[in-house]
This record gives sequence, C-alpha cells and structure tokens, in this order.
Amino acid sequence: MAEAGSFAERVKQQADIVRVVGEYVRLKKTGKDFSGLCPFHQEKTPSFTVSPLKQIFYCFGCGKGGDVFNFVMDMEKSAFPEAVRTVAEKCGIAIPRPRERSPEERQENQQRAALVEMHREAQTFFTKQISGTLEGKAARAYLEDRGLDNKAIDRFGIGYAPSDGDALLRFLKQRYPDKLLVESGLISRGEQGNRMFDRFRRRITFPIANDSGKIVAFGARALGDDQPKYLNSPETPIYSKSNVLYHMDRAKEALRRSDFAVLVEGYMDAIAVARAGISNVVASCGTSLAESQIKLLSRFTKRVIVNYDPDNAGQAATERSVSLLLEQDFEVRVLALPPVGDKKADPDLFIREKGVEEYTKLLKDAPPYVDYLIARARKMDLTTGEGKRRAVNFLLPYVQKIPNTILRSEWATRIAQQLHLDEPVLRAALGKAATQRRSELKIQPELVGRSAKPVERRLIRMLAEAGGFRRELAQRLQAAQLYHGLETEKVFAALIVASLADEPMQATEVAAHLEERDRRMLFEILFEEASEPTWEEAVSCVEALQHRQAERELADVQRSIEANPPVTEMRGLLEKKQDLMRRLAAAR
Ligand SMILES: [Zn+2]
Repeated sequence: MAEAGSFAERVKQQADIVRVVGEYVRLKKTGKDFSGLCPFHQEKTPSFTVSPLKQIFYCFGCGKGGDVFNFVMDMEKSAFPEAVRTVAEKCGIAIPRPRERSPEERQENQQRAALVEMHREAQTFFTKQISGTLEGKAARAYLEDRGLDNKAIDRFGIGYAPSDGDALLRFLKQRYPDKLLVESGLISRGEQGNRMFDRFRRRITFPIANDSGKIVAFGARALGDDQPKYLNSPETPIYSKSNVLYHMDRAKEALRRSDFAVLVEGYMDAIAVARAGISNVVASCGTSLAESQIKLLSRFTKRVIVNYDPDNAGQAATERSVSLLLEQDFEVRVLALPPVGDKKADPDLFIREKGVEEYTKLLKDAPPYVDYLIARARKMDLTTGEGKRRAVNFLLPYVQKIPNTILRSEWATRIAQQLHLDEPVLRAALGKAATQRRSELKIQPELVGRSAKPVERRLIRMLAEAGGFRRELAQRLQAAQLYHGLETEKVFAALIVASLADEPMQATEVAAHLEERDRRMLFEILFEEASEPTWEEAVSCVEALQHRQAERELADVQRSIEANPPVTEMRGLLEKKQDLMRRLAAAR
C-alpha cells in the first residue's frame, strides 16, 4: 500500500506508531513492546501489543494487526488516503497539496476551517475586551472576587462579551458572510430573520477547545443576574457538546501520567481544580455525561473520580454518569464534598473556602461508587417494606453492572447488611442481580502461532526481518522446497515471494494477503521474543528443515517398502532408503 517513494511511505517512516496508537489506547511498556486493552474487542487483561521497533500492532485476543495506517483505518473507519493524512497530522508531518475531493467535501472542509478561524478571532476579541475595556475591568473585578486573578484569566483564556449587543458582529462582519456568522453560533438572528446580534452579551467567556486544542465553542457566564446563568454555543458543524470535554486538550498529559481523571460539571470547577495543581481534570459541561465523552476519556484513562455538584441535579447527574461509566468498564469513585458552613459545596467553592490541601485529601480518599450509592440509599425511608424495596430497586442496576463476579456478590451482601434487609425476597433480588450480568463478548486468545515448530517460527522471523540475508535465505528454502507440507507453508510462500521480489518488504503487507489463520500466525511470530538473527543460525535452521524433510521421506519410503511392491520398484525404494539414512546419519 505504501509505495516506495510515496508520501505514504515517507509518513510511515517518520511516524511513531506508539505515539499514534497511544492517542487511542492507554499503553504500558512491557519489555521492548507496549501493551494495552484492545480497542477492537472487549477485554479486561491487555492482549493488544504495539512494537516500536517493528512499527506494528497486534491483538492476541481478536487477531487484529497491522501497521500504523491499518490501525487508524480500523479506529477511524477511514480509507487509506485519509489514514495517511491523519497519521501525518498527528505526527506533525507536512502534507502536500490535498488530494482533489468532491465539491461537497471541499466546501464542508472550507466551512469548517472558516468556523475554526472565526472562533480564534472571537477569542482574540473577547480577551481584548476583558483586558482593555471598562466593562472588561468590571468583569475582571468579578472574577477576582471569585478567586481568579489575571494570571488565571490569561492561563484559561477567559474573556468578556460586552453588553452592547453587536460588538462581535461588527468585528467579524467584514470577513465573513452572514450565513456563516449565524452558523457559527456566535451570532444570532432575530425572530423576523433580519436583525443580527451577538449571542453572548454581558457575559464572561470561556473558550471550549476540542481535544486537539482548537477552540470550537464558548461557554459564557452571566455577569449580573441575567438568565440563564450559563449559556453555551449551540451545536455547529465544528462543535458537538457530547464529543467535547472541557479542559481535555490541557489534561491529556496529566491523565496519562496519573492514570485517573477528576470529572466535574462546569468550567469554573475545572479551572478551580486545575489551578489547585490537579491538571487531570475535565468537565462534562452539562449535567450529564455523554457516551462519546466517555469514549474520548477512555483513550487516556479508565479510572474516574466523579465530583459533581451536591445539589439534586448534580446527584442525579452523578448517578447517571456512574451508570454510563460502569457500562464502559471504568473504575469509578465518587467524591461528595461536605457542605462549607451551610452552603452545599461545588469543587470551585470548596477549594476557595477550604483550600487545596483539604480538597486533595478528600479526593485521595474518595470512596468507590458503591459506598456513595449505599449512603444515598440509606437516606431513603427504610422503615417500611415498601421503602426498602425502593432502595433495593435503586441499587440493583448498579450491582448488575459490576464486572467482577466476586466483587458483585460481596457488594450484594454488603448492601443487604447496610440496609438491614432480612426479607428473603429482597436478599434474593440482590443475589440474583449478583449472578446476572450482560453477556460479555469473550474471545479466548487461541495462539495459532504456537502450532508452528520453533525452527519454522525462527525462519519466518528471519525472512520478515533479516535485511542482510533475506534473499539468500529465501532462495535456499525455495530451491529445496523445504517448507512444503508444513503448518506454516502459506506464510513461508508469501514471505519467500516478497523476499525474492527484491523490494523493501513490509511484513504487514504480506500479512494483508494471507488468510485469517496464517495472518495471525505471522503476527504472533513477529511479536515473539527473539535475538538478533545471524546467517549461521539461518543455515542451522535450514539444515534442521532438511533433516525433517529427509525423515518424512524416509517414513514414506518405509511405508512403500512395507506395502511389498514389485521387485523393480523395490530396488529403487531400497536405494532411496539407503541414501536417506546416510544423509540423516551425516547430519548428526
Ligand atoms: Zn483485540
């Protein structure tokens, strides 16, 4: 696929597969390779492996494997040319003039690019307003009051949308057509459809970036008592609320490093937590988490501490988010902050009033979600049978979502104890929930590579990798047809053809032409621990195959002799037997 000298080949040479895959899968270094949970099938223990040396990946569970392009194609469901571009972009490799696209595609891309540019300009506008105007000064004073100094305002790109109603419109109007201005969501059109005005007025603005750091929307908080208190950008061609987590672009590194995320509700909370030195914080920017937001997060970590507002909406959102996170096999803890004085505390308020240290301590001790839920259930009326039933019904769905069987049954017992449930019916309900769970897609790793003998595996590895003598080795194997009749015959045949073709060989491309079983065999062999091959070793492996071939022939001859053939034939067979026995004896 990646033709010699092509752009694709250049990208492949420069790209780092670990970095690219690492954006989708959390990878841990294991020896020379990296491993993680396979993004292509459900699993609990990592069988997905990436080799930085060979620049390939392979899943020992489901058998997916290939190079960096195959990975991106599978992951993004894109075609080869797009995958090449994606990889180039991710690795900062300059892309030559884009391929001709359909007029619609081109128009969409241009529109998207214009919208991103418009948001960048709007951001410049808003930040100028907050730093350079009288109104902006008032906004700064307000932020100062909430503990956000100029440094924080700069760091998070906080800006201000003035009250006069069309300041941004006038700023953008010369450069963008009306239609695009309205499509951006930054400018609204009046009911009659003629008048246009700024969507955000007299509001503090927070830029919302996608995970690659491009501003695609704004969140805006009313400065006074204007309603609604928070107003966000609408859905646009570049912004979908459910695909973006606030602060994700800045949290990536910390998420990877700490391997957990603090999930909060709003941008003020995220900013407060990030300023407290906990950079691995993201905000769902809305009361409930969307599945695509969870998918995005799972690219970096599968452990979350949910720290939503303690009000009713926040509690409902916590429960719903916990439920969704569990479905995606996240490890979930819940931090419910104690009130500050008589005020219910969100992270922002709590850190301001109680300090970073206190918050960090509570975060560290945040209990598993089941404890949080039991505490919630205990607040229900447990004096009546009906009340207890309600509490159990509240907890049941969560118990069912616990992935681990033993854990699940432990929690069932614990819930029964904590809620003082002695009614056999309720115990039975919990017990049943403890044993049931949505059926999981389980693929048992069946290592097909193991069916090949060590000598074959070694030779295959050499054909795939030993640049220096690959061709010579292929010629020897070919000349004596040493691989015929082996378990690995088809793999050998493909590699020998590629080796003799005198072109730089890509094992992944050879693999692409093999049948499933052989393809998996090749990948498994490529991922085996192995030392640097030498020609001496290659020769001894070839001799071993010759020996085996002679043994097989000898067995055949022996069988023919025992079948008692005519004398003329017998003489030939006996001679052949002698010859084979001499050869086998000489090899010892
Ligand atoms: Zn897999």
